[in-house]
Order: sequence, then structure tokens, then C-alpha cells
Amino acid sequence: MVDFSIAPEFEEKLDWVRRFVAEEVEAMDLVFDQMSAPYDRKNQAARAALAPLQAEVKRRGLWAAHLPAHDGGAGVGQVNLLYLNEILGRTDWGPVVFGCQGPDSGNSEILAAFGTPEQKARYLRPLVAGEVYSCFSMTEPTGGADPTRLRTRAVQDGDHWVITGDKWYASHAQYADFIIVAAVTDPDAQPHQRNTLFIVPRDTPGLEIVREVGFFGEPEGVGGHPYIRFDGLRLPDSARLGGRGQGFAVAQARLGGGRIHHAMRAIGLCQQLIDMMTERAVSREVAGGRLIDLQSVQNDLASSAIALRQFRLQVLHAAWMFDAGLGHGREGRLAVAMVKVATADITKDIVWKAMHLHGALGASNEMAFGKYLGLAAMFGIADGPTEVHLASVAKALARDVEPHVGFFPSGHLPSRRAAARAKLASYLEAAA
Ligand SMILES: Cc1cc2nc3c(=O)[nH]c(=O)nc-3n(C[C@H](O)[C@H](O)[C@H](O)COP(=O)(O)OP(=O)(O)OC[C@H]3O[C@@H](n4cnc5c(N)ncnc54)[C@H](O)[C@@H]3O)c2cc1C
Repeated sequence: MVDFSIAPEFEEKLDWVRRFVAEEVEAMDLVFDQMSAPYDRKNQAARAALAPLQAEVKRRGLWAAHLPAHDGGAGVGQVNLLYLNEILGRTDWGPVVFGCQGPDSGNSEILAAFGTPEQKARYLRPLVAGEVYSCFSMTEPTGGADPTRLRTRAVQDGDHWVITGDKWYASHAQYADFIIVAAVTDPDAQPHQRNTLFIVPRDTPGLEIVREVGFFGEPEGVGGHPYIRFDGLRLPDSARLGGRGQGFAVAQARLGGGRIHHAMRAIGLCQQLIDMMTERAVSREVAGGRLIDLQSVQNDLASSAIALRQFRLQVLHAAWMFDAGLGHGREGRLAVAMVKVATADITKDIVWKAMHLHGALGASNEMAFGKYLGLAAMFGIADGPTEVHLASVAKALARDVEPHVGFFPSGHLPSRRAAARAKLASYLEAAA
């Protein structure tokens, strides 16, 4: 039997999270409202307000809920993480308050899985404790969707590596204490075995933040996704994360979880948008009555709620696959790719409808829809664009399907009927 019930003790925790987010975390969103504010440790007022909130989350046993207990997390499992993340997804600060923000969450997962004992002590422990921030830098100005085309080089020099190249959309690089960077170490190897990951402490000579890059709507030169340059940066071999040439495989390991976590938070965002649409629809009078009395508004509201329920079940199923140990197999990768596409599609659709229902107010800077549209764009582009995931889904569906031989496809009714008649021939003849 499929069981959608939540364990009573975890439901109690979720009740507390709902109250805590509404009463404490939303205030952080409203006062410290720059998109990258949760990662900026220079803002002393914000850091002072954040510290007691994080302490309370740790005291409640909900800190770093994406990680198992043996890696320093709350160890609640992915299904329970969904119930938590969908509440946090209503806010910008929630993930940082609860210690499960990207890209640190994905970075902590690969450090736990592939890090040496020294790397775990130096980087993983303080990252999980929330004492430092990190960045994952793969994308380059010359291309991101295809990681086999990276140009940043790491050349071996004795027991050191020398890294040279340009990266951008290195989210939070300016706030990070260390950057995990993908560089080409083996240009002549098979495409997926050319890259290696390295851990670069932020103060390493040869690392330059060329400029900050932001979302549309943010002023030029400001934002959380910088352009960075590695100019002959030297690292010891002990900075290598995972095997030489294994950068693609290690990076993939962090992306599965990251994509599902974005989806969980998107559920919360979409529910919040539907709540806003509903309130607007019952409140606003137009010619003909309230907005909710118009059939087009009813259609938008109902179809949004139906789509969200379907999406939530899809993400719940993918989370269950991770808990069941099926997240990294072929079926798991298919489920994640499907979730990734659906996250962008549903968010874009519901943000647009909710914004439109609010009229000029919706398009103004007195509501947050512009930011939400940016999030929808991020869901569609970051961690690989929608088209690439659609191609993966289609290839996975077609992988084991043999071409049909013959003039007509296997669904051709006359052919199928002839076969069925042959099978039932004795009955047909007896009755004739
Ligand atoms: C908010 C945000 C945060 C990000 N954070 C990070 C980060 O922290 N670290 C990091 O390394 N990167 C990050 N990225 C970068 C992101 O992963 C890349 O933008 C993404 O992989 C696409 O690469 P690109 O921008 O170079 O687009 P391109 O590779 O130039 O692709 C452009 C478009 O072409 C189409 N396209 C490309 N390839 C195919 C294909 N095979 N089939 C069909 N269509 C295709 C798609 O429509 C795609 O959107 C972030 C991006 C955003 C928006």
C-alpha cells in the first residue's frame, strides 16, 4: 500500500518549522532582501539576526537535513526533506537558516562521498557546521550546457597543478571560503574523462573575481554569480577532489540531489503563488463580479492547483527513490531529469499566471514576481538547460526499444486484429 502519512513526531517538527518560518525567517527576507544577502557575511546586522535562528534549528535537530547523520546532518531522509524544503521554499533565507542551501549542500555531499580525510576535516566539517560557504565552478563564458567542452586547463607540474582559465556563473564565489573548480587535465581522453575537480581556497594567489554578475533586475556589476579567472593558480595534488579525469562523474553525483532539492523548494514557492492568486481572486472586483467568478480565472487557479499536486507527487516519488537507494541508477537518473524539466515548467507557468492576475501591481516592484520569474529562469537553465534534460529523457526512453520491422507499426490495428483472430480461431470456427 502506498503510504503518504508523515510520522507524528516529524509532523510535530514540521508544525514548528511552519510557525518558525512565518514568524522569524520571513522577517529576514523582508529586511535583508538582496538575493545574495543570506551568503554575505559582511552584513553584521543580518549575521547577528541569523545566529540565534540557526542555533534554534540545530537545537531542534533539523540542521543540514539533506545529509545523513554520519556526515553531520539531521538524517531525515529525502521524503521528509521534501516536507521540510517545501516550507523553506517560501523564503530566500530559509535554506541558510536550516543549513541546507545550495551550492553548499551539493558540495558537502561530494566532499562526504569523495573527499580524503584531510579534505573532510578542512572543508566538510566547517561547511556542514555553517561556519564557511563554498562555490562550485564549472560553467565557462564559452559554454556551460556541454561539460565536455570546458577550456580551463590544469597542467601538472611535479606534485602541483597549475590552473588557467575563465569561469562565470560561479554562484557565491565572492562569499565562498573555497571553490570547487572543474578543469581539463586530460584533453585527449574520452570526453567524459577529461576533467578533474580541485578545491581552491578562496585566498589562493592567481584567483581573481573579475566582476559580479546578477539576475535581470539587479544593477549591472552586482549579483551573486561572478565571473572569475584562474591565472596560473598553483595547487598541490592534495587539492584534487576525486580521481584524475573523474570530474564529470563526481559533479554528476552532486547534481542529482541538488536538482531534487530545487524541486522541493519550488513546490513551496508554487503553493505560495497559488495562495496569492486565490486571495487576489476572491478580493478583487471587476466588471461582472469578483475575479474568482470569471471562468478564465477559475481555470487558471484550478489548473495551477492540479498541476502542482501532480508535480508534488512526482517529486515525492523521486525522493522515495533516493531513500530506497534507487536515486543513482538508470531509473533514478531518469526520474531526476523528468523532475528537473517539470520544476522549470510549472514554476514559469504559475509565476506568470499569478503575476498576471495581480495586474499592474503584479508587474510592479512592490510585489516579488520579478524575482520569482528569475527563479523560474534559473530552474530552466542552471544545472543544465531544459532541452538537455529533455534529450536525456527521450534517449533513456528509446535506449532499449528495438526498431519495428515491417511496413506498419506494432500498433497497426488490422495487423493486430489478424493476429488476435488467429489466436481465437478455434472459438470463431466453433461458433460459425
Ligand atoms: C542562477 C544561475 C546560477 C548558476 N550557478 C552556477 C554555479 O554555481 N556553477 C556553475 O558552474 N554554473 C552555474 N550556472 C550556469 C548553468 O549551469 C549554465 O548556465 C547552464 O549549464 C547552461 O550553460 P550556458 O549558460 O553556457 O548555456 P549554453 O550552453 O550556451 O546553452 C544555451 C541554450 O542553448 C540550448 N541548448 C544548449 N545545449 C543544448 C542541447 N544539447 N540540446 C538542445 N538545446 C541546447 C538551451 O536552450 C540553452 O539554454 C548557473 C546559472 C544560473 C542561471
